[in-house]
Amino acid sequence: MSHSHKKKVIIVGGGAAGFFTAINIAEKHPHYEVLVLEKTNKLLSKVKVSGGGRCNVTNARQQPSELTPFYPRGGKKLYTVFKEFSTADMVRWLGDRGVKTHTEADLRMFPTSNSSQTIIDCFTGEAARLGVKVIQNCGVKHIEATEHQWSLVTSQGPMIADKLIIATGSAPSVWGFLSQLGLDLVPPVPSLFTFNIKDLRISGLMGTSFSEVNIRITGTKLEEAGPMLITHWGLSGPAVLKLSAWGARELAEKNYHFHILVNYLGKESNAEVRQWFDQQKQDHPKRKVLNYPPGELTRRFWEQLCKYCEIAEEDNFGEITKKQVNKLTEELTQGLYEVKGKSTFKEEFVTSGGVALSEVDLKTFEARNFPNLYLAGEVLDIDALTGGFNFQACWSAGWVISEHI
Ligand SMILES: Cc1cc2nc3c(=O)[nH]c(=O)nc-3n(C[C@H](O)[C@H](O)[C@H](O)COP(=O)(O)OP(=O)(O)OC[C@H]3O[C@@H](n4cnc5c(N)ncnc54)[C@H](O)[C@@H]3O)c2cc1C
Repeated sequence: MSHSHKKKVIIVGGGAAGFFTAINIAEKHPHYEVLVLEKTNKLLSKVKVSGGGRCNVTNARQQPSELTPFYPRGGKKLYTVFKEFSTADMVRWLGDRGVKTHTEADLRMFPTSNSSQTIIDCFTGEAARLGVKVIQNCGVKHIEATEHQWSLVTSQGPMIADKLIIATGSAPSVWGFLSQLGLDLVPPVPSLFTFNIKDLRISGLMGTSFSEVNIRITGTKLEEAGPMLITHWGLSGPAVLKLSAWGARELAEKNYHFHILVNYLGKESNAEVRQWFDQQKQDHPKRKVLNYPPGELTRRFWEQLCKYCEIAEEDNFGEITKKQVNKLTEELTQGLYEVKGKSTFKEEFVTSGGVALSEVDLKTFEARNFPNLYLAGEVLDIDALTGGFNFQACWSAGWVISEHI
């Protein structure tokens, strides 16, 4: 067959999802001509900065049922997608191409080189080996279905595709032509942000961390446990980021103004903490309260909280009043804080929203109402917590498309 008779697959977006999809299609379907169009002069730029430059490429959890709980948008619908191409498959895929990976204690996986460039080199090398054409500085401005093909308006002129894959990430710039087609779009809201809090109890304590806290957002069902960190602007750390992801839409509706209840001692109940104070009174009445924080709280944080509860430096456990114990207990197990605004979490900021999942058949990632149009990656209303899950959603989608196209 001559070159010109090859069916043409165009992939819009030279990011994680676009490259992975292109490579796998080219490998499995050598009779297709595969073309990647990238708006900017950079390829895989988010992969480059991901994971602090190390690229948290996937996660060591392997079962689909272990993975889906990490996706606030997507969730159980992704079960069959992960069944077809899971994290272990990605590890094998990379290994087969000479990229070794390793797992950290929290189950995040990175290339053993600890450099995102290793992933970029692998992807660009594979694309070149398989004859994938990549055109940079080529933004797609409009798409239209003709009888059996798709016609594109790009910054480098018109193009025709037999199969069209949209992998443009979270930028809403393509939403215009996608919604013009009639695709249902879920408006974008940020996910994975930290809470801005101005409060005497935490001011000046940036860098202070807590190994396990519990945070509830009042007036909602949102509740999360995990490590927490005091920053210059307020509160951050896994427990906060998880809340921001699950509450992305609800908290946007509140305009990022809400109240949280913090239990600094994780699962410890009010009664258990009160009991702890009673024990101290009994066993160590002469000990100075400020010198003996409960649990794993740091001295600095505990001193500040004691002062806030009007405990003097010389006060010992034997002396503090019932009222003071009540106040301390409340501050420890259900400290009420006002959140006013959010800050971006630079490590792994994502946008929730995008093309509604109901628009695609997740067995193929083809648009239900538009034959030969596929969507992959963050352009879809799929997003996850930190840990390599966002990339895995790209890898799994790309693989599934390449299997069924
Ligand atoms: C700082 C940072 C760190 C991160 N770290 C991690 C991590 O360690 N692990 C993890 O799992 N996730 C991480 N994420 C999330 C992850 O980067 C994204 O989920 C992922 O990149 C989404 O891939 P994508 O291919 O859908 O979109 P992108 O990677 O954003 O790629 C989309 C591409 O499409 C191009 N494009 C857009 N519009 C057009 C158009 N009209 N025409 C042509 N091209 C177009 C864009 O220029 C871009 O190159 C991180 C995110 C950030 C911001």
